[in-house]
Amino acid sequence: MPLIIKLGKKVKAAARKLLPAPEPRLSWSRRISQIKTKSRICAMTFDDGPMDLPAVPDRFHGRAVTDLILDVLAEYDAKGTFDVIGDTSENYPDKRGRLGTTNWGGVAYDHYPDFGRDEHGGALHCERIIRRMIDEGHQITNHSYRHLIYGRENIIYRKRRSLDSFDAAVADLTRLDSLLRDRDGYQMTMTRPPHYVNRVEKGLTAYDVCDAMGYQYLAASFDGAGWMSDRNPDPEAALEAEIRAMVEPVRKALEKDPDCFCGQIIFQKDGGNMQKRTPVVYGLRGQLELLRSYGYRVVTVAELMEESPFADLGREDPLFDKLNALQRDRTIVYSDNHLRLDRPMTLGELALLLCPREEAVRRRLAIIRRSGPAAPAAGALDWCAEQGLLPGETDPKAPVTALPEGLFGPTTDFTRRGVYAAYRSPSAE
Ligand SMILES: [Zn+2]
Repeated sequence: MPLIIKLGKKVKAAARKLLPAPEPRLSWSRRISQIKTKSRICAMTFDDGPMDLPAVPDRFHGRAVTDLILDVLAEYDAKGTFDVIGDTSENYPDKRGRLGTTNWGGVAYDHYPDFGRDEHGGALHCERIIRRMIDEGHQITNHSYRHLIYGRENIIYRKRRSLDSFDAAVADLTRLDSLLRDRDGYQMTMTRPPHYVNRVEKGLTAYDVCDAMGYQYLAASFDGAGWMSDRNPDPEAALEAEIRAMVEPVRKALEKDPDCFCGQIIFQKDGGNMQKRTPVVYGLRGQLELLRSYGYRVVTVAELMEESPFADLGREDPLFDKLNALQRDRTIVYSDNHLRLDRPMTLGELALLLCPREEAVRRRLAIIRRSGPAAPAAGALDWCAEQGLLPGETDPKAPVTALPEGLFGPTTDFTRRGVYAAYRSPSAE
């Protein structure tokens, strides 16, 4: 593997260690990176587009990068999930960054598809391409309007401007959500925060922003590598190396375990890499060819979540249908999308099972706006107390030892599995 690509992977691994995912807690919005299934289906997400500029190098008579990606997907009957931005033309004054670094698109801000060419990218300027995505059955998710990181990040992106406010992050996402709804008649349901920076302000995170939007948090489990660049001074050799870096890991993973992509979400780029080349339009076919030869279907993330919305529970589990119905209206899953059914259930978790999602989210966000960070079940506990389901002074971390009468069948099993199994769910009847 070329050195720069190895370095890119090392930097990413180090960043993951330095910026660990927050401790999983029950949350209505969950980080969806992979789901549990035995079927050979997977998804591909394409970040930072659309892009209405030719490929680099251009061997397609000037056809736009996003159109080329859509052409290849159509050829393989594959559906993509396009994690689009709105518009970066407001992200000035700024300075051009250095090629080959994470600042390639700008020092203080990101600019897509390129510095000074913002009017060729984003959903605002690319109405025709957005229409094409919708008409061809792809999913579109919200990668924020201006691609500003929500909160400070002092390791890789320390020179970047950030929003630093919960309300500003919600407003930025709402702007793109409204554009697609009002102009294109499309409702987005997921978001991926720019550069995966979760911290916003005062202990609030991207998950709270998702809750406010009614979104799920879109992550990924396999790096498709289209964002990485090779430093070979010969551009042709560099492009070849970049294409290999996209295709070979997929081949190796499939050779090692033909089922390894079941339920995975492959991260991909709708645009240029750090050298402003677009290996994705050259390497994507190789990836899709491999997946097809192993019998995989590439579907949208929404379709993947219809197979199973959970990372640790598949259709074969006897509780699957009940929990699948419940998760639409109740907060029963941890923020990392695991159910952890073997754990003892806590009173806070019981409150979140009993309280309708809308009430739980609305009340918790109201507490946050009033006084800052709130425990996951803060709003749900208030609602349960008002309904007389739980006492007012309930310790959310205490284990469940008895269940409110009427709503549950008889049980002595107070694990999460036991309590969900005994619940006489209104939505499952
Ligand atoms: Zn991005």
